[in-house]
Amino acid sequence: MIDDDNEPSIEERVSAFRGDDWEDEMRAVLDEGEYDTELGIQMARDARRLVAGELEEADFHERYHDAVVEEFGVDDRPLETSDESAASGHLPVAAETDEEELERREVLQKMGAAGAFVGLGAWATAENRDESASAEAAASDEDDPNRQWGMVIDLDKCDGCLSCVIACSQENQTSAGSNWMYVFTYEDDDQDGENFLVRTCQMCTNAPCEKVCPTTARHTRTEDGLVLTDYDVCIGCRYCQVACPYGVNYFQWGEPDVPGSEIDPHHAYDDRGRWVDSRPPKGVMGKCTMCPTRQDDPDRRGTTGCEDACSMDAIYFGDMNDPESDPNQYLETVREENPTDRETFANRPSDRVSTFRLLEELGTEPNVVFVGNEPGPNAKQVEGPVSYEEMGQVDRRKDVLDEETFAGGVFS
Ligand code: SF4
Ligand code: SF4
Ligand code: SF4
Repeated sequence: MIDDDNEPSIEERVSAFRGDDWEDEMRAVLDEGEYDTELGIQMARDARRLVAGELEEADFHERYHDAVVEEFGVDDRPLETSDESAASGHLPVAAETDEEELERREVLQKMGAAGAFVGLGAWATAENRDESASAEAAASDEDDPNRQWGMVIDLDKCDGCLSCVIACSQENQTSAGSNWMYVFTYEDDDQDGENFLVRTCQMCTNAPCEKVCPTTARHTRTEDGLVLTDYDVCIGCRYCQVACPYGVNYFQWGEPDVPGSEIDPHHAYDDRGRWVDSRPPKGVMGKCTMCPTRQDDPDRRGTTGCEDACSMDAIYFGDMNDPESDPNQYLETVREENPTDRETFANRPSDRVSTFRLLEELGTEPNVVFVGNEPGPNAKQVEGPVSYEEMGQVDRRKDVLDEETFAGGVFS
C-alpha cells in the first residue's frame, strides 16, 4: 500500500477532473436505484485507490465481502481479473420476444445475483447450445493471447460531424440519450478555437468498474482485453457507473427504443455465448463495447462501427499490443519529428503533435490513446458545428452540463 503524504490523494486527483461535487452527483445516481447507496460510494472510492496502487486487492475484497453478501446475497468479485470464472453456465439464448426478455430480467433480478448464475440455463435451448460450441471451436484458432483491442483517436483530425456517434447508435440500436460514442466540443483558455474530445469506453486494463461489480457482469474478456457487461448477469446496481472515472456508462431505465425481437442474436452473443453486444435490456448497464461480435468475426475483426463511419480518418482501432497494428503504426507516424505526409497533418502545427491517455495518472491503464492536446481543467463545453438534435440524437449530457466547466462535463 502506497502512503506518500506529498502526493495528492486519488480522491483529490479525481476531484480535480470531475469537480468537487462528483460524489454528491453519484450519490444521487445510486439513490435512484434499489441498492445500498453508501456501499456503492465507498466501494467506488476504494476501487479508485485500488487501481492507483493505494490499496491491495485482497484488502479491498475483504473490506467489502460481508457487506456485499448482505446486500446482494453473493460476492462474486474475482480476486484476480478473470472472466472465465464468471462465464461458467452461460449459454446463448435464441432471440427473445420483448415479453420473454422482460420476464427473464425480472426473474433474474428477483432471484438475485446467485440465481442469475444457476437460472440462466432455463432459457437456453439445445439448439443454440450446439451453435455456441461450434462457434467457440471456430474462434479458438483465431485467438491471440496477447491481443488488447484499443484505439488511437486523432483529435486534430476530428471536425465534429458526429458521424461516429450516429454509426454507433445505429449499429448498436441504443436508446435515445445513450451516447456510447460521445463527441464533446469545447473551448479552452490554452487552445485556439473549437476543440473536440471523442470519447468511447477507455477499455481500461485496470478497470475500477470491474472491481466493484458484485456479480462479475462487468468483466474483461481474457482473449482480447475488452471490458464488457454480461447483460444476463447484470442486476442493475449501477456501482460500475459510480466507480468509472470517465462517465461512459448508461443505465437502461425503461424499455429500450428498439425491442428485443429486432436484435440480431449474432450481434448480441459473443463467441463465448455471453450476451455482451448490442443495446442492453431494461434495468441493465450499457456502454461502448468496442464491438465484440465484429472482433469475433474473421471478416470484420479489427473494425468498429465508429471507425468505419469517420470520413476524417481520425479513429484507428486495433491491437494495442501489436507494433504493426493500425493504431500503433499511426502513432509511430505522428510521433516522427517531421511527418512526411504533410497533407494528413495540414491542420496541425508541428509543435502540437502530442499524445495522451485520459486520466492515465489514476492507474486505470486506458487503452485509448489520443493525438492532440489534452483539455485543461477550465475547458468549457460549447455547441458543436453539428448538433446532436440535428442528427436525430438526444444529448442529455449537454442539457445538464451547459453551465458547468469541462471538467465537470466530461467526467460526470
Ligand atoms: S455491471 Fe451491472 S451488476 Fe455489475 S456493477 Fe454494473 S450495474 Fe452492477
Ligand atoms: S472507461 Fe470506465 S467503464 Fe470503461 S473500462 Fe474504464 S472504468 Fe470501466
Ligand atoms: S467501438 Fe463500437 S461500441 Fe464503441 S463507440 Fe465505436 S461503434 Fe460504438
